[in-house]
Amino acid sequence: MADNKTALVKEITPQSEDFSAWYLDVVRRAELADYSPVKGCMVIRPYGYAIWELIQQELDRRFKATGHVNAYFPLFIPESLLMREADHVEGFAPQVAWVTRGGTEDLEERLVVRPTSETVIGTMYAKWLQSWRDLPILINQWANVVRWEKVTRPFLRTTEFLWQEGHTAHETAEEAEEETLKILALYKEFAETVLAMPVHDGPKSESEKFAGASRTYSIEALMGDGRALQAGTSHNLGQNFAKAFEIQFQGRDKTLQHAWTTSWGVSTRLIGGVIMTHGDDSGLILPPKVAPYQVVMVPIPRGNWQETVLPRAREIRDQLVAAGVRVMLDDRDAYTPGWKFAEWEMRGVPLRLEIGPKDIEKQSVLLVRRDTREKTPTPMEGLAGHVQGLLDTIQHALYERALAFRAERTTSADTWEAFVGLMEGRPGFVISPWCGSAECEAQIKAETQATIRNIPFVAPSPEGRTCVKCGQPAVAVPYFAKAY
Ligand SMILES: [Zn+2]
Repeated sequence: MADNKTALVKEITPQSEDFSAWYLDVVRRAELADYSPVKGCMVIRPYGYAIWELIQQELDRRFKATGHVNAYFPLFIPESLLMREADHVEGFAPQVAWVTRGGTEDLEERLVVRPTSETVIGTMYAKWLQSWRDLPILINQWANVVRWEKVTRPFLRTTEFLWQEGHTAHETAEEAEEETLKILALYKEFAETVLAMPVHDGPKSESEKFAGASRTYSIEALMGDGRALQAGTSHNLGQNFAKAFEIQFQGRDKTLQHAWTTSWGVSTRLIGGVIMTHGDDSGLILPPKVAPYQVVMVPIPRGNWQETVLPRAREIRDQLVAAGVRVMLDDRDAYTPGWKFAEWEMRGVPLRLEIGPKDIEKQSVLLVRRDTREKTPTPMEGLAGHVQGLLDTIQHALYERALAFRAERTTSADTWEAFVGLMEGRPGFVISPWCGSAECEAQIKAETQATIRNIPFVAPSPEGRTCVKCGQPAVAVPYFAKAY
């Protein structure tokens, strides 16, 4: 079996040959996820789930620091509830899974397995909300949702996935917009500092907004193959859901008013984003902040290493753990150091620590970075501080590298000819003026597969420019890309 496994580790399709095959190889070989007996559903394996737990912890801390609390709502939604907001039904109906029987009996009313929870949460808010004094309501839910997908890919698009969905209710339109933007900024800060994944933040176009929303904002990242990934969305729902679900309160002026609501979410899709932002031909590269193991220690088995090297390695591990570093000491006898190097490199551990008899004589260890493969002999004295410093350096270096890649793969096109030419390949982001019409947007998509990812807050001014498709005056300068 060991030989078989050695061969497997080496078998990762190079990115340049087939990025999609590379991605699936990494997901499987790094043991992040596996296919399940249920079509379109994946099993998140312990190593992948540990990444999700770190993502959850970081986000949850941020949600709570901004005044949000967690709650849990039912998995099933009665059909009549889903039907109450017209745009919402139209958007989600083709994708919902139905429950029609309970045990041996047909249900009087069919239930949907939640594709998202605006309807059931809105119903409860209508019940709980009496007065303006009850506002704002700031609730988040960590949950699974189901959207029946025809084509699936682990983490990026699966029929069932894990996410968080925030649902808030406010007294005024201004407060709802402020909340929507506050969460968008929180997502951007999280993506960039924790996942080391640069994103563009801004509004989506009308046709790409969430079913039932007044305005949808997104963060958009760029993957290693030049495709964009929508990494998180924040929706200002206006009073659409409040009107459909009678989320009302008595205002300061004693009149009955509809609340202003928002919803926002990120999902296990972020793990796919991390894989495709940082990985290389040797496999995964994890930013230290979401690496289940930040350091893997590999003892070099020379002489009676189990009596000499191993006890010292254990001491060092304990010191690092005490300093808050996530460490794996790989002391397995059945594998060679070379095999372990390749294995943990493929699984993306940011830092390798080698320790052998000679290192112990010199009172030092060898640190090897996953991202640059740079080797640094480091004294045992003060090691925890060095390791933490190096992990910070790696975290920043990964972000800078992704940022440079994005800059390299961002171009502008002012003419349709130039736009089409660029989109024949996979150029990354293409910045082009647009007239604001849904027809132009649809034609652009039909002819080039490119969609408006969003209109970043930092996008150029449309003034004096004309639509790349129809030549009419431009109202915005969105970022276009082919997307996951
Ligand atoms: Zn146009």
